[in-house]
Amino acid sequence: MTCYDLHSHSIASDGSLTPTALVGRAIEQGVDVLALTDHDGTEGIAEAKQAAEKQAIKLISGVEISVTWKNKTVHILGLNIDETNSALQQGLAEMREFRIERAQLIAERLAKAGIDGALEGAQQFASDVMLGRVHFAQFLVKNGYAKDVNEVFKKYLVRNKPGYVPGKWASLEDAVSWINAAGGQALIAHPARYKLTATKLRYLTSEFKELGGVGLEVVSGRQHPEEVKTLARVAEKMDMYVSCGSDFHSPDNQWVELGKLTALPQNTQPIWQLWQ
Ligand code: AMP
Ligand code: MN
Ligand code: MN
Ligand code: MN
Repeated sequence: MTCYDLHSHSIASDGSLTPTALVGRAIEQGVDVLALTDHDGTEGIAEAKQAAEKQAIKLISGVEISVTWKNKTVHILGLNIDETNSALQQGLAEMREFRIERAQLIAERLAKAGIDGALEGAQQFASDVMLGRVHFAQFLVKNGYAKDVNEVFKKYLVRNKPGYVPGKWASLEDAVSWINAAGGQALIAHPARYKLTATKLRYLTSEFKELGGVGLEVVSGRQHPEEVKTLARVAEKMDMYVSCGSDFHSPDNQWVELGKLTALPQNTQPIWQLWQ
């Protein structure tokens, strides 16, 4: 059976592997079709494509766009995109600008909490294309403010904590329209992670569908089997495609591995049906 992993990150966002190393690891893990879906940017795709060329793996161009929806951050995957599309790239460029502004604010807030040099510190962990909260977390761990990245998020980077800055990301409408302009398919990433009630999830999904979104990521790395079933049912009821992806970021996370995913439930329509 073909192994699909349609959600992964490289150093072009907050992953720890280069696109080449990521593709190499995916091949080792038996992945046949891999999507690189870095946050709010596509800078890793050219290298990943090159690494996949003449290898026993197919690389799907993707992106994971941060969206603010009803005061919550929601992630939208764009799969099978033409990453050279100018509407998409213009949108993503604005998001990168917001990331720079936000990073400055995070650093200012951390300075007020007695932690100096966080901006420069975080930059040391980031490539020059994207700065995210994970890079701040890595700086804070290195300097002994917390034992691991997870603890930094809890202590510093989430709502009501000293380094928190609210996201002002793309609208749902914009994210879907950029992905569609680039010829790709828009899917709601890891829908179970937003702590939405069943009603709100259906509300988000129907709004998303009206805007031109086509699918739900029903299987995500480290997900409870019950959640998979629930999401598959939502997808079926709302006539949406489904997808599966590990959301791999780093070999340091022993719980998430490329290609290690539960099977999509029967009676679902995998997004790759559109690619044949
Ligand atoms: P950003 O888009 O810069 O706000 O960062 C969001 C990223 O931070 C997510 O994609 C995850 O990679 C990471 N992240 C979010 N929450 C946590 C957490 N509790 N522990 C570890 N990493 C997290
Ligand atoms: Mn991430
Ligand atoms: Mn995400
Ligand atoms: Mn992701």
